[in-house]
Amino acid sequence: MTENSRKPFIAGNWKMHNTIKESVNLALEITEKANSKPEVDVMIAPVFTALNPVHLNIKNTRTLLCAQDCHWEDKGAFTGAVSAQQVKDAGATHIILGHSERRSLFADTNEIVNKKIKSALSVQLTPILCIGETLQQREQNQTNDVLAQQITQSLKDLSPESISGLIIAYEPVWAIGTGKTATPEQAQQTHKFVREHIAELYNANLAQKIRIIYGGSVKPENIKAIMECEDIDGALVGGASLKADSFIKIIDFREQN
Ligand code: PEP
Repeated sequence: MTENSRKPFIAGNWKMHNTIKESVNLALEITEKANSKPEVDVMIAPVFTALNPVHLNIKNTRTLLCAQDCHWEDKGAFTGAVSAQQVKDAGATHIILGHSERRSLFADTNEIVNKKIKSALSVQLTPILCIGETLQQREQNQTNDVLAQQITQSLKDLSPESISGLIIAYEPVWAIGTGKTATPEQAQQTHKFVREHIAELYNANLAQKIRIIYGGSVKPENIKAIMECEDIDGALVGGASLKADSFIKIIDFREQN
């Protein structure tokens, strides 16, 4: 990222990993770093069962706490589901919605993501909206169309004011957990398109303010080049966020090679 008013945002998505004890220990190690880096926003997303224990250990620190999903209803007969209100009650301030694993393995559509975003916003949770194209869509030159549709439909009926704090995570599906990373040029080009689409859908001011982060096999070895791109404001990290030392190096992105 070049000079602008958008603060770097480094987030770890722990997916279905770690016990409560492991989650708390990892959160504490990361928090020590986050507390010494006020120039970077650091966020972690443990499993539901670890949210509250992690919250109790890191509240009043600089680390932001995030859930990985929620149901769109406040409460009711939805066995196995957790609502935005309940996630908030556990201590989270942020929520990942529309992750490609939710879209492909749990059938989350843009319409469902839209309902979940509205539910999250109604309890003042900040959504991290994930978007991204498959390899086939990229090869067929459909990337921009797919992303535009994901953004437009996921944000349907939402005012610019209501989404002013929203974060968008561009995560090419073919780069998640595969070791393949988009080149910084590919990522920058796509982030620029996403920003332009927000300007078109809402306004230029919001597009300049909104943070767009990259996800897909981010590691200490590639974070610096990714963060040097003008329209990339941070990273959503899966695998490399599960070990304190690699995630801390990513938080320290300016120091990497
Ligand atoms: C993710 O799950 O959002 C992700 C980007 O995973 P990984 O870093 O392991 O590719």
